[in-house]
Amino acid sequence: MKYTIIDTGYFYADGGAMFGPIPKTAWRRRYPSSKSNICVLATRTLLIETDDGRVLLIDNGAGTKQPDALRHYCFFDCVDLEEELLKRGIRLEAVTDVILTHLHFDHCGYTTRRVEGSDKIIPTFPNATHWVSQKQWDNCLHPTPLEEDSYFTENIQPVADAGLLRLIDEETAIHPSVRLKLYDGHTPGQIVPYIQMDEETLVFVGDVIPIAASLSPKWISAYDTHPLTSYYEKVRLLDEAVRERQTIIFCHDAYTPMCRVKKTGRFYTKCNG
Ligand SMILES: [Zn+2]
Repeated sequence: MKYTIIDTGYFYADGGAMFGPIPKTAWRRRYPSSKSNICVLATRTLLIETDDGRVLLIDNGAGTKQPDALRHYCFFDCVDLEEELLKRGIRLEAVTDVILTHLHFDHCGYTTRRVEGSDKIIPTFPNATHWVSQKQWDNCLHPTPLEEDSYFTENIQPVADAGLLRLIDEETAIHPSVRLKLYDGHTPGQIVPYIQMDEETLVFVGDVIPIAASLSPKWISAYDTHPLTSYYEKVRLLDEAVRERQTIIFCHDAYTPMCRVKKTGRFYTKCNG
């Protein structure tokens, strides 16, 4: 088993939105921002190559299909994921599994691509099984007003049309070393993949805990549709991470890609050991 973290790009987000009710006087010590409260966030992908030949890709950034709709986020330093994979000897056709934590645009944009010189949109990974939760799929097709701007169905519908979509409604092992668990809060039915390496367990926490500063269970983004659920889901995830000494990979933290977690009293913080 081998893993590689790839940052597919960066974008600007409002710090107030990232930290919800927490005042800037508190969060500015935990995440860098400009005078106008702008924070740099990453869009991070995790590539897993298993000993038995599977190639798994977890999330894949915003892609390039909606430049006008996403211009306010000012995406920068975006990589071509196809080139990044080729540098590692992996063709798009060789990817066996695409795991999407959820279907918000900044996590699944590269799942489909426009055929050059046409309006046709096709799956980027033509041979991959694409794993999404049933709850998240239903939510994407029928979003509440709060989430309707977060979804572009062109990012996933061509995958469903091609028969490549696999929906799960409970914890599922998709490989002896990879389990997909489900979490609610930020949006219904987020997949959190647990990858068992030789000496550690990697947990790609997605938007359950987008950046290291959100390790504090009450530091919940204003984008979360069910904040109280987010609180309890974070505690559930973090208690296991502390107990099992798991390594957390953050999808959006531009400065801390991964860490272990310790608990002191009621507080969860980064630890290096
Ligand atoms: Zn999200």
